[in-house]
Amino acid sequence: KEALLEVNDLKKHFPLGKNETLKAMDGISFHIYKGETFGIVGESGCGKSTAGRTIIGLYDQSGGEVIYNGLNVHEMNPKEKFDYHRSMQMIFQDPYASLNPRSTVREIISEPMEVHRLYPNKQERLERVYQLLEDVGLNRDHANRYPHEFSGGQRQRIGIARALALNPDFIIADEPISALDVSVQAQVVNLLKRLQKEKGLTYLFIAHDLSMVKQISDRIAVMYLGHIVELTASKSLYKNPLHPYTQALLSAIPIPDPDVEDRRERIILKGELPSPINPPSGCVFRTRCPYAMEACAIYKPKWQEVEESHFVACHLYNKKLTGDHGVLSRLA
Ligand code: SF4
Ligand code: MG
Repeated sequence: KEALLEVNDLKKHFPLGKNETLKAMDGISFHIYKGETFGIVGESGCGKSTAGRTIIGLYDQSGGEVIYNGLNVHEMNPKEKFDYHRSMQMIFQDPYASLNPRSTVREIISEPMEVHRLYPNKQERLERVYQLLEDVGLNRDHANRYPHEFSGGQRQRIGIARALALNPDFIIADEPISALDVSVQAQVVNLLKRLQKEKGLTYLFIAHDLSMVKQISDRIAVMYLGHIVELTASKSLYKNPLHPYTQALLSAIPIPDPDVEDRRERIILKGELPSPINPPSGCVFRTRCPYAMEACAIYKPKWQEVEESHFVACHLYNKKLTGDHGVLSRLA
């Protein structure tokens, strides 16, 4: 499989003055393959939005690299950069805040085409707007209306049409359904899935809720306090979560089948989410981890492939620390 996007040890630190730094994202690495949906999940403040914004270039990275289609984004020439900004588009959580209230839907969707001189002929561009509206389940009569005239779900469709205007290959969706009514969420997810098939899109799908990313993602990365703690295929994450944080997140999701008795023990995490300004030493999860050992305060856990294509950063899976009959075998 071919990686469309490679993220290597990517960091984003925000200096706060007083010699303080907010380490919003502190060294994350993953590949996203062409045509797949890669989910990033984590609670608010874990750095998942920062990851999306840094990859697309809304933030300058503090370290690491982003490789797109084999090119290091930082070393691209202006023409390559321009095409990168065409090829990668973003859908935002709050479709209302991201749409200019004073612009008509036609203007909102046309604008990126004007900036990129795509469909420079006015009539062609208008036809293109109509086509995009139809692609997202709206119609040409909506073109001369304003964002406030639409429901939340419809506004998100307008946001999606705008993101599609430049024929992108890659879309970063930052909590695209979190602000929508539950009844509308599935419709938008289905729309995104259909568009992916029709247009051969690759998605980075960011969410705070594991049940939400599950429906759409092929693989999922779990983030906690600026780090990815686990990464694997959706199915194996649900069947066989390895990191204690993932196990806790999953234990909070109800089993969807009402005939199946939920016998699982709910894992309640102790303590509060630490501040990314002053993260814990060693493993960032150790202040809340039910299995924390002495070593967890001293050493940062290595990112290892514990099973095929299943990565985790946790000392429980480090035999040198726990021994062959250590915590790992007791858990199994
Ligand atoms: Fe818990 Fe230690 Fe694993 Fe961190 S490294 S998740 S503290 S057991
Ligand atoms: Mg966010």
